[in-house]
Amino acid sequence: MYTFYKRKRTKKKRKNVMLNNFGLGWRNLFESHVEYVKTSMSEVNILSIERYNAMLRIKFETGDTHLQFILDCFAYKIERDSAKTCEHCGEYGFRRFGEWLQEPLCLCTPCYVKHVDSILSQQ
Ligand SMILES: [Zn+2]
Repeated sequence: MYTFYKRKRTKKKRKNVMLNNFGLGWRNLFESHVEYVKTSMSEVNILSIERYNAMLRIKFETGDTHLQFILDCFAYKIERDSAKTCEHCGEYGFRRFGEWLQEPLCLCTPCYVKHVDSILSQQ
């Protein structure tokens, strides 16, 4: 007799893998950019993806100096765009620095209010 194992579907299509640590606003906007570099340029390493002063900072590394220049420009453009995009919802946002925030975040006003409210309600 055959034994049939009911396999769980583990090969679920995973989206937004690279920017998992960030809000949906940034993920929806910038994930495709990072994915594009990763899939189309095999010689490029992604050194780091981090939030720096409420902006999305991505560091690319490649051996080719010309390509490195282009990637640096690309990363700079992402950084500038992220500085005015709400990390949570993707609307127009501002970089928020304040005593309520553990670290600076780029948020629109409704998301900022919700975020601060959730912090205050935990205290
Ligand atoms: Zn928002």
